Amino acid sequence: MYDSVKRAFEIAKIVCQGDKRKYSRFRAARFYGGIATADCVGCCLRCVFCWSYETATRPHTAGAFYSPLEVARKLVGIAGKKGFHQVRISGSEPTISKEHLLKVLDLIPVSIDFILETNGILIGYDEDYAKALARHDNLHVRVSLKGTNEEEFSRLTGAEPIGFELQLKALENLIRAGASTHPAVMVSFSPIENIEALQARLALIGKELEEIEIEELVFFNPGVEERLRKAGIGCRTAYRRDNIPPEQV
Ligand code: SF4
Repeated sequence: MYDSVKRAFEIAKIVCQGDKRKYSRFRAARFYGGIATADCVGCCLRCVFCWSYETATRPHTAGAFYSPLEVARKLVGIAGKKGFHQVRISGSEPTISKEHLLKVLDLIPVSIDFILETNGILIGYDEDYAKALARHDNLHVRVSLKGTNEEEFSRLTGAEPIGFELQLKALENLIRAGASTHPAVMVSFSPIENIEALQARLALIGKELEEIEIEELVFFNPGVEERLRKAGIGCRTAYRRDNIPPEQV
């Protein structure tokens, strides 16, 4: 088992160089009705169901370094070409490079919405991070919870269970800072009663969190089934990539 915060700082040594960060690709994606996407490299978790497991967990083997200006220009360029009004950083964990991420945010025009997809570990750990993010009016933070409680989190990520508390703390810190945020929850491995218990727990943090986005397993990557089998983890729901429910696109 590993400490997810400690791992974040170790991964940062590999994927950050000054204010530059490693990325594997820049693309137009169909999610959110169309969004320009930068796929970063390196994550502080090792989720067994991760669709980008290789780049998330072996960052030294993937990607190249880009400055905040280069990333902002690529995102805005793709959005302009495709007529999108949204951009995001996805693929791994964007918050690992704090200086880089905040500079990219500064460079995205306010007319374009920035969706930050994060596991929230570092925002839960560092309240000032939430405050710095909240200064960007065009930012929305989607905190993706890995399971519905500490036990599930640890089983799915291999990390110490306290990481789940940090995920919830991220939502609390963001609300307190005045940032726009919502929780997405990977529920494919969770019994209904655990999902309901999480909803009650979130409602205690803030009324804003009463609605959760349901995230379910999609087999984007053939390695996922193999990892689940090896780990002896069964799932309650899952989809093939050509059969994703419309509400999850
Ligand atoms: S937090 Fe996201 S990017 Fe990181 S390992 Fe889990 S699913 Fe992959």
